[in-house]
Amino acid sequence: MVWRVAPGALVALVALSTLAALTPLGIAYVGKRLIDAVVLRDHDAALSLVLLELGLVSLLALAQRGLSLVRSLLGARLSVDVNVMILDKALLASLSRFEDPEFYDQLSRARREASSRPLAVVMGLFQIVQNTVTLLGYAALLSRASGWAVVGLMASALPATIAEVRLASDAFRLRNRRSPETRRLGYLEYVLGNEVFAKEVRMYGLGPLLLGRYRDVAEGLYREDRGVAVRRAWVGYLLSSLATATFYGCYLALALAAVAGRITLGELTLYVVAFRQGQQAFTSVLSALGGIYEDNLYMTNLFAFLALPPSEPPRASGASPAVAGEGIVFEDVGFRYPGQTRFALRHVSLSIPRGQHLAIVGQNGSGKTTLIKLLTRLYEPTEGRILLDGRDLRDWEDAELRARVGVVFQDFARYQLSLRENVGVGSVPHLDDEARVLRAIERGGADELLGALPEGLETPLGRWFKREGVELSGGQWQRIALARAFMREEADVLILDEPTAALDAEAEQAVFERFQALAAGRTTVLISHRFPTVRGADHIVVLADGAIVEQGSHEALVAAGGRYARMFALQAEGYR
Ligand code: ADP
Repeated sequence: MVWRVAPGALVALVALSTLAALTPLGIAYVGKRLIDAVVLRDHDAALSLVLLELGLVSLLALAQRGLSLVRSLLGARLSVDVNVMILDKALLASLSRFEDPEFYDQLSRARREASSRPLAVVMGLFQIVQNTVTLLGYAALLSRASGWAVVGLMASALPATIAEVRLASDAFRLRNRRSPETRRLGYLEYVLGNEVFAKEVRMYGLGPLLLGRYRDVAEGLYREDRGVAVRRAWVGYLLSSLATATFYGCYLALALAAVAGRITLGELTLYVVAFRQGQQAFTSVLSALGGIYEDNLYMTNLFAFLALPPSEPPRASGASPAVAGEGIVFEDVGFRYPGQTRFALRHVSLSIPRGQHLAIVGQNGSGKTTLIKLLTRLYEPTEGRILLDGRDLRDWEDAELRARVGVVFQDFARYQLSLRENVGVGSVPHLDDEARVLRAIERGGADELLGALPEGLETPLGRWFKREGVELSGGQWQRIALARAFMREEADVLILDEPTAALDAEAEQAVFERFQALAAGRTTVLISHRFPTVRGADHIVVLADGAIVEQGSHEALVAAGGRYARMFALQAEGYR
């Protein structure tokens, strides 16, 4: 991954690590020669050795600076690229994945680790290589004094490292297990700190309640973290004391050897430096191994997420040829939301001829929106099939299908973008087609709004990013959403899921009449609770408990005196 993202940085890393590995050896050796020269009172040698050491130290400083520069650049680079990979993956996931807590856990675990772990693995590897080179050099120097000392020093650092690896994997398991809690914290932060919730949080005095919950969860996590950290500190301290004791044992033996004149003063300093730094290098190798082990555990989360198969398997396109003008047909369609036992829709058979204006009515929860989600292929039917122009929706190319359908959802999005973009994103290829954007605005009934905005099309909507941003009313946002759907001028199926609920009655009537006129010749599917709007449709379908219970024209349904007639009478009563 790193090689692909930044090959140059990787090469620099190799060069600088080698430099940083070898210079300390040189410095130690020059130090020994210097002390011996001093003991011999060799003036010239002392002078040149000090200068040489200065040169080596500057080189080392340069290598270390360079390493930290490469590290921070590579870190920033990887963080960008890995985050892009993750978001790209999230984009490919189907809507149902987003309703799956497991998926959210995976996504948030992957994102949490994205920016730091890949770099940590690479740096860990280099730390190992660098320190191993240093270590081997010191071991070679030291073995002149005592081979046993080398073995002893290495052995004494081993327990600390093994413990480190074990504790790291404990911490990893802990964090993975807590992923749902961490996400809950994130959610509470979002609710407490976001404009969307600010009104209700204040009006209902939810602040203390939610903050209390936040504190409870966070305190619980803190206590667990503290336990792990304290254990790690103690174990680390005790086991590294073992290494220190070994070091001083060897130190003593060497000092006595120097006193007895078996080694020179220069050799004593060389060995002491070699011992100390060799042991440090060894500990760093081992702790880097532990670190890599830990980072790898976290990386498995990231790679597992990146390896998730895309939601929709590639389609056998052209399985059934499309016949223009056949319209939309539901064939005994049933649908169960993932993880649910109850069918949200069952045995729905319905034919919507091309150009028909269909209205769907029914109580909350009767399955109206679900039907739209199936029609727009956000979900695939559990049973039966849906045909568009005689071809199974499943067999349509994604782009082809999306281009044919314009939709405004009940919970349409309010983008913190300019007015132009808010409308234009309805058809991304035409984002810059000003004439089309203006037409869509006019058709959505937002032209008056446009006239009132200070910077016209370029006015930022929403105030997340700009003070000059304009916050709109619910009804105004709704017109923008409508305009967005009208950007799809090529779409021959228009779907409106209660698109006018936030408009006043008069505005709704106006928008709707215009909509009918503009949609002439196109197929429209409309969900509405308002009968003045519904009665204008060619055909009306009444849903109850996930099934079609009545259908027909307004007049026919009223005459039949069934559920539709009762709902109509009830609403008409209210207006009298
Ligand atoms: P309507 O649009 O008619 O108000 P919906 O189609 O939204 O009704 O919902 C139909 C049924 O499906 C309801 O019982 C609802 O609880 C259930 N439902 C809707 N969305 C989901 C979902 N994402 N996951 C599980 N069940 C859902």
